[in-house]
Amino acid sequence: MPIIGKAAVLDGVEGNFHIKEYEVPEPKAGEFILRTEYAGVCGTDVHIYYGHLNTIEYPIILGHEFCGIIEKLGQGVVEDSNGRPVKEGDRVVIVPGVPCGNCYYCKISKTPTRCANVKAYGFMPDQAPHLLSGGFSQYVHIQYRGTSFFKTDMEPHIAVLTEPLSICIHGFQRAGGVRFGSTVVVQGTGAIGLGAVAFAKRSGAAKVIAVGGPKRRLELARELGADVTIDIEEIRDPKERIQLVKEETKGGRGADMVVECSGFPASVPEGLSYLRDSASYVELGHFTDVGTANINPHWHILRNNADIHGVWGSDVEHMEMTLNIIEKMELPYDKLVTQTLGLNRIGDAITAMSKKGYRLDGEDQVIKIAINPWI
Ligand SMILES: [Zn+2]
Ligand SMILES: [Zn+2]
Repeated sequence: MPIIGKAAVLDGVEGNFHIKEYEVPEPKAGEFILRTEYAGVCGTDVHIYYGHLNTIEYPIILGHEFCGIIEKLGQGVVEDSNGRPVKEGDRVVIVPGVPCGNCYYCKISKTPTRCANVKAYGFMPDQAPHLLSGGFSQYVHIQYRGTSFFKTDMEPHIAVLTEPLSICIHGFQRAGGVRFGSTVVVQGTGAIGLGAVAFAKRSGAAKVIAVGGPKRRLELARELGADVTIDIEEIRDPKERIQLVKEETKGGRGADMVVECSGFPASVPEGLSYLRDSASYVELGHFTDVGTANINPHWHILRNNADIHGVWGSDVEHMEMTLNIIEKMELPYDKLVTQTLGLNRIGDAITAMSKKGYRLDGEDQVIKIAINPWI
């Protein structure tokens, strides 16, 4: 008897999620079938819903942040990307992006996140040959050659955070790491921003300032290591926020590093203004195109001698590093997942994260919504 699984299929920009039933294929050599436990709803899924990522083809099964249990192994899949033996029944976290290994970026410049032919779970059209390649589904067909994955014993509602948190690690790495005793500002207090707060503090920052909201997120920012929080719903004037940040730094000079995780264009000139001279700006919030920002290149970049880094996604090593940190559970990462919903409520999750200002079912404040396709 073939296994039948349900998936939520988005039919187009601002379209509908249809629950469809699929016959789960037999995994070929080198492949496996994953029984999804959790798939995180990302800001990027929201932007894809509204058509802000022009490479997307529909219909699509979204969901690139997912973990689950190996249901059925294809021939030759014997170990994870760390060389640990795997068997059916093991929990694994999947690295969504799969670089080709052959293009200029894979082979020569060695920047696999820039691969020209990348395939990524949760971003491919739900049409042959890519069927069942997104996490908003009871089963995912792990089908791309060279897919990286890691076995973990972590609870699935924490394991599902590996991919979003790995973006922060990539950002810090590109900026040359967090300097001991430095002041780091994080703009945005979604899951990635909160992860940046936690990791900046653990990397030796003396002061971490989180600029974001609403209240529940700022409380969690403090729990994860923020020394100062600035509520953008209370302090509405960016000039006032710039002044507040500067006052929190030695000599009023500004921050040593600013990490932009909000994805709002206007936050970029604001964040560049938080910097001291010759400091680092890390941009990882704008994974999709939500418009332009007004920057004065003289004042924001040259005069300040700013060091600006753009960060696209994350690579296998960032996923592995993230797992190494969160598996220790030294901080309450589990509090980042605030709601768990079934496949039939993905549309509600999208609305909560866009039109409803991170509120779901009345007053519940959303940080990360996880989809459990079995409820
Ligand atoms: Zn994501
Ligand atoms: Zn490539």
